[in-house]
Amino acid sequence: MHKVLFRRLALIGVGLIGSSLARVCHVRGDIAAEVVATARTATTRQKVLELGLADKVFDSLKETVAEADCVVLCTPVGSYGEIASAIGPALSIGAILTDVGSTKQSVIRDVGPFVPEGVHFVPGHPIAGTEHSGPEAGFADLFKGRYTILTPPPGTDETAVEKVTELWRRAGSIVEIMEPAHHDRVMAIVSHLPHLIAFTICGTADDLEHQSMKDVLRFAASGFRDFTRIAASDPVMWRDIFLNNREALLEMTQRFVEDMTAMARAVRWGEAEYIVDKIERGRHIRKKLIALKQA
Ligand code: NAP
Repeated sequence: MHKVLFRRLALIGVGLIGSSLARVCHVRGDIAAEVVATARTATTRQKVLELGLADKVFDSLKETVAEADCVVLCTPVGSYGEIASAIGPALSIGAILTDVGSTKQSVIRDVGPFVPEGVHFVPGHPIAGTEHSGPEAGFADLFKGRYTILTPPPGTDETAVEKVTELWRRAGSIVEIMEPAHHDRVMAIVSHLPHLIAFTICGTADDLEHQSMKDVLRFAASGFRDFTRIAASDPVMWRDIFLNNREALLEMTQRFVEDMTAMARAVRWGEAEYIVDKIERGRHIRKKLIALKQA
């Protein structure tokens, strides 16, 4: 077995992602000698204890991070600024502060100013998830074979970046380093826009359902169902992602609206070739994903 990476790993937020990380720490044993945690509500903190996800659970943010050599923020990105301002003064010198948030420029903007001298801030994002949330939704294999992107600001301590890289490798991930702005643009198209479309199409269908088109849900299996899986995701988490990746998401949405209008025009004017070409591109992308084992 490898030498253990961290003496005490502190999780702030123990939902789908935090609890999956806790589980993989327990299964492997070489990530952290001790896992401690906190969550916003007493109910979740109690659940974390019952499920044995952490060795210790604290009510206070400061106590959670005080003696940790690695702190991982696993809460919705809109809560980061407030949490960072609360934990900043309590972080130990030499500790690593990292996160799992789905947007990266906003995290650097909101957390960066509260990171004290001597604490190493290595923002991260595991590209793995499900539509479920909460401490019971996690599982140890969630990150296996999935990418984790790290976006360390220029000048970040290399040893700290290596340790966070190793943390995710041990969790089963393939790690890549990326510019935060590039991360946010890529995520806007592969994750944030598909969620925006799913939430929107469900709203459109729901409106029709209310206008007594009762068959919308009965025949959902014909395509709509796949959108509803994505649309079942946590509202607070997605509100925060949309509002914190505003520019890139608006750019991708605008491009999508243009392309969708072009497709609608082809339908209107019976441009069969255009339609077939677009569908073939979709099939090609699906095949490539399968080949990359990311399907
Ligand atoms: P989740 O299942 O909803 O869990 C969120 C956790 O954060 C809960 O334990 C919650 O505690 C806690 N929390 C919320 N606000 C807090 C606050 N102000 N102070 C302390 N704790 C707080 O969320 P998740 O799916 O694990 O997502 C967590 C992060 O991972 C987000 O930033 C998200 O963008 C990112 N991410 C998600 C996915 C995904 O597919 N779900 C994938 C990659 C990255 P309570 O239960 O007590 O409210």
